[in-house]
Amino acid sequence: MTEKVMILGSGPAGWTAAIYAARANLDPVVLEGGHVQGDLPGGQLMFTTEVENYPGFPEGVDGQEMMMAFKKQAQRFDVRIEEYTGAESVDLSQRPFKVKDSQGKEWETHALIISTGASANWLNLESEQYFRTRGLGVTACATCDGAFPRYRDKPIAIIGGGDSAMEEATFMTKFSNPVYIVHRRDELRASKIMQERALKNEKIKVLWNSTVEEVLGDDEKGVTGMRLRNTHTDQVNDVEIAGFFLAIGHTPNTAFLNGQLETDDKGYLVLTKPHGTQTSVEGVFAGGDVADSTYRQAITAAGMGCKAAIDAERWLAEQGIE
Ligand code: NAP
Repeated sequence: MTEKVMILGSGPAGWTAAIYAARANLDPVVLEGGHVQGDLPGGQLMFTTEVENYPGFPEGVDGQEMMMAFKKQAQRFDVRIEEYTGAESVDLSQRPFKVKDSQGKEWETHALIISTGASANWLNLESEQYFRTRGLGVTACATCDGAFPRYRDKPIAIIGGGDSAMEEATFMTKFSNPVYIVHRRDELRASKIMQERALKNEKIKVLWNSTVEEVLGDDEKGVTGMRLRNTHTDQVNDVEIAGFFLAIGHTPNTAFLNGQLETDDKGYLVLTKPHGTQTSVEGVFAGGDVADSTYRQAITAAGMGCKAAIDAERWLAEQGIE
């Protein structure tokens, strides 16, 4: 059987595409993702506390709750969902396209919507990965892990100087004290409002011009400290912490495409038609963070997912596939 449209990914872009495609009678299948260990289906909002800037929620909304609501809305239109399943590989060299999923199942589809998002970056220090893979105090998700007893009333560090670092630092002050923000420059990248909110919090201390040399600790206690180098003075010093939280940006999830779609120099999918979601292969559309290094917001991702579904619907009609 050849599907009319398959949607890869289940963040705001994927679910919005699914809702629109289902309502257009395209009977879409969503490969939900979350198949990689340490990941969750639902995208980055699953790792966000309060979403305050999505219109329609005047009091704000919890990120996980919001994604559950997106999914429920898709289910209302009988979208077929392959849970905890992602695309392992695709063959876009001929139509219908072929998709092999992470359970080993092979699919064929006339149109494809890629909304696989982006994943957290790591410093890739040996010590960081050692404690991370053993669950001993290194994480890229304060929202998921911040409430663990390990961090209660202890000092912790957030690495990064963007909005995520400010948000996670502010969130962690509920549990930890002090919360260090370790930033490699003397100026933050974060928006003014997020900076102000974080910097006025007495529990937050910024360690400027600092890079991390090593995460310190042992198998019994987990993370106990970090070794920092001052980029101006080259001085090295150790700081006591119980948790090491990364907030240094994300990389678009395109590895499974194996170079079959054009990307920009940062790895984001290139959209080839003005204002549209068509990628470099006809019949393949993309929406959300995987194709957007500029806006990267839930609302823009949802908007792109909507556009991708409408583009796919029109393209299928042009091909005589209704
Ligand atoms: P980001 O804006 O790319 O910031 C990444 C930060 O990590 C930068 O400060 C960067 O330093 C630092 N960094 C990157 N690689 C590093 C390395 N190898 N070592 C040390 N530091 C490193 O990423 P983000 O904060 O995740 O935000 C991504 C997007 O989501 C942004 O558009 C942001 O506005 C949005 N966002 C919005 C909200 C909200 O509105 N509620 C919350 C979170 C994120 P440099 O500054 O020196 O480059």
